[in-house]
Amino acid sequence: MAIIPIYSEIDKRTGKVNWGLGWNDFHKVRSGYGCPACLEDFCGVYMPVCPVCRHERDVWADFLATPAHFQPGVAGPAPDPM
Ligand SMILES: [Zn+2]
Repeated sequence: MAIIPIYSEIDKRTGKVNWGLGWNDFHKVRSGYGCPACLEDFCGVYMPVCPVCRHERDVWADFLATPAHFQPGVAGPAPDPM
């Protein structure tokens, strides 16, 4: 476990551990550069499956919706005339 939580508690309903992370560590885990289950730090590499605990990330949750101006038939911002 390379990411150190600020605090941890066991959820009595699920039995899983809830981590409290600092701002940078939270965004590291949220972006796929750290494991939310065991807090392994992937050192800047996006990992869909944690090599330590085999936690599988929901990779489809990491994709953002296509902006409206990228979709065909929808007018986007006017091109820069230079
Ligand atoms: Zn893990």
